[in-house]
Formats: sequence, C-alpha cells, structure tokens
Amino acid sequence: RSTIAGYDPELAAAIADEARRQEDHIELIASENYASPLVLEAQGSVLTNKYAEGYPGRRYYGGCEYVDVAESLAQERVKQLFGADYANVQPHSGSQANAAVYMALLQPGDTILGMSLEHGGHLTHGAKVNFSGRIFNAVQYGVDEETALIDYDEIQRLADEHQPKMLIGGFSAYSREIDWARMREIADSVGAWFVVDMAHVAGLVAAGIYPNPVPHAHVVMSTTHKTLRGPRGGIILAQENEDVTKRLNSLVFPGTQGGPLMHVIAAKAVAFKEALDPSFADYQRLVVDNARAMADTLVQRGYKVVSGGTDNHLFLVDLIGRDYTGKDAEESLGRANITVNKNTVPGEPRSPFVTSGLRLGTPAVTTRGFGVEECTELAVTICDLLDNVGDEAAEARSRAVATALCERHPVYGKA
Ligand code: PLP
Repeated sequence: RSTIAGYDPELAAAIADEARRQEDHIELIASENYASPLVLEAQGSVLTNKYAEGYPGRRYYGGCEYVDVAESLAQERVKQLFGADYANVQPHSGSQANAAVYMALLQPGDTILGMSLEHGGHLTHGAKVNFSGRIFNAVQYGVDEETALIDYDEIQRLADEHQPKMLIGGFSAYSREIDWARMREIADSVGAWFVVDMAHVAGLVAAGIYPNPVPHAHVVMSTTHKTLRGPRGGIILAQENEDVTKRLNSLVFPGTQGGPLMHVIAAKAVAFKEALDPSFADYQRLVVDNARAMADTLVQRGYKVVSGGTDNHLFLVDLIGRDYTGKDAEESLGRANITVNKNTVPGEPRSPFVTSGLRLGTPAVTTRGFGVEECTELAVTICDLLDNVGDEAAEARSRAVATALCERHPVYGKA
C-alpha cells in the first residue's frame, strides 16, 4: 500500500492510476514486460543512495563493499546466462550501452552500417536524428521488400561499397532469426567490428531458443527490461579480449556515464538469477508459441503479417492498402484496452507518426499468465476490431473481451 499517498496525493494518484492501467489493459508492446516483485524490491532499495564510480574492487568512493557484492553477482550471473567472458552491467539504458560501445571502438566520423529504423532497426543503429547518425557516417541496410527478410547479399554489397568500421546487427521490429555467423563473415571481409544489439531477443537467447550472438560478435549489447524481464537498463557483453574490454569499461565510466545506478544493478542481479531458473526457458517458449498463435490467427482472418509469421516474440501487421492507418488502428485498439504500437512496415508509404502497420509482442501477456488459448481469443477480438476500426460498438465488444482476460490473469494481484 502506498505511503506516498499521505505526503504527495497527486503523485500517488498517478502511480496508482498507472498500476491500474497495467492491470486492466492488455499490453502488446513488444519491448515491454512486467518485472517481478523481487526486481521491484531491489530497485526500490537503499542502494540508490550509494555513489560507486569505478568497478568492483576499484572504486573512487569509500563504503562500496556491499554494492561491490551486488555488482559482482550481476556480472557473474549475466556472464553465465549468455556464455560471455566479460560483462559490464552499468549502462543506464540500451542507448547508453550502444553509445559506450561505439565510442570504445570508433572515432567520430567513422562509417557504421546498421539496420534502418523504417525496416526494423533502432534509432541508435544510425538514424539521422540520433547521436549514432550525427557523430558517425551512418549507412543503413534493410529487408528485402518482397520477402521482408534481411538480405545478406545487400549488406555485403553495402559493406564492400562503404567499407564501414562497424557492422551492427539486431533490431526492434523483425520477427525472424538472424544468421549471426553470416554477418560476422561480412564484417570480417571488410575488417569491421561486428556488434550485436540483442535488446529485443535477450530473454529468448538466455533461454536457448534464439541464436546467441555472443560467440559471433566482438561485442553484444542489450537492454534488461524487454524479454529479459528485468529493470530498465543496459548491459554489454564480450568474449575475452583485454584490449576491447578495457576500452569498454573506460567508455562506460568515465567515458559516457558517471556513478552507476546501484539499485538498478541489484535489480539486474535479481532478474539474471530469475533468468537462470529453468522456469524462465518455459516462459520464453510460451512467449514464442503465443506470438505464433496470434500471428496465425491474424493470417487466417486475412491480415498480412510481415514475412508471413514469426520466430520470436513479436510480429508486424501490414495494413498497407486498408482505409485506415497504423495510428488509427493503435488508437481504436487503445479504446478497447489493448495497447499496441503503430509501426512502419517494409514499403511504408506513410510517415513514422502515422504508419501503415502495427507491432504486436507477447512478452508481457505471457508474464501475466496468458497461454495459447488466451492469445488466440485475444487475436480474434483484435481482428474483429481491425475489421471495424473506429466503430464504437466494436471497440466496446473488444474491450469486454480484454477486460475479462485481464481479470482472469492479474499482473501483480490486488493491491
Ligand atoms: N536497442 C534496441 C534494439 C531497442 O529496441 C531499444 C529500445 O527500444 C534500445 C536499444 C534502447 O533501449 P533504451 O530505451 O533502454 O535506451
């Protein structure tokens, strides 16, 4: 129960409203999840009070003996989880992890080759509006517009033409497996670093159901809050290579960050322990089964799913040619208590603020206990509404289905 309420009722109301929204809305944003109560407890702990610039055993402040334990636990667990020799658990976010890695391996003005935002990459993979596209000379690859699959020959062609210093693998909106070995070969052929941002699929990788990039990449970055289901934050992993790992450490601190968030690092340690438990692999398998069940239902109902289906936790619905936009669909589903995000799709004719697509992901609904049966029921009601976008009666019908599903599967239980 909130003790903030007596002190700051306005803020307490916002927190309570958000808790209620999370309980009574279906969360299909592919990058979101519900952290466990143990993760929340660690993140709300007194470790937030501690300055600990530096690394365990080598700090710039006194009194770090206990936070050293927390950070070492996080490091050891995440290394075990992904089979890495080196881990830095200090990045405050995925974007900051990427910034530190680029700064460690590149000079300003160097050429980088990453997946474009429109085709499923992340802002930090070279988008013009992002530091990655401003500080570096960013060249972008995408997917084949026919198959919607990554076109490795095209990446090779771009690499030969532009001679990048770094090739970036990974994505925010791509539903298939990636051939990390092939990408490493392309990077090697032009003498580039190969780095992988596995933020979206880290949980699946940890569970052994999505190819692990760690053996193939020079450096792997991730967030900790998506499929991995930890606190908001970032990590950097690598195999043994003293020259590289020293640079990574110094480019996180002091290169791009000050004091680490020790309470978040403690919460990462909890999340990594949870991810090492065999039940986590069961959860991830169900995440993928649920995504497949939803994608199959949409296809059966005549909706175009980009690339025809999914191998991971997300898929894209292509609404090109329909008389409503991705934004219209997002808003109509939102009124039915189903939260999704509009997304550009291959061949996108509209702006990123409007789009002709939706991105749907199952990590959060699976955490709250949805199985294939619930996800199929959910997909059916989504199709019913997409058949009638903006129709108030259809929105009310889908909202009733969504509400009943939420009541059957509470996230954290009653407050
Ligand atoms: N990398 C990828 C592939 C992502 O999808 C995201 C977030 O959506 C990020 C990095 C950025 O993470 P953060 O929001 O923690 O900066």
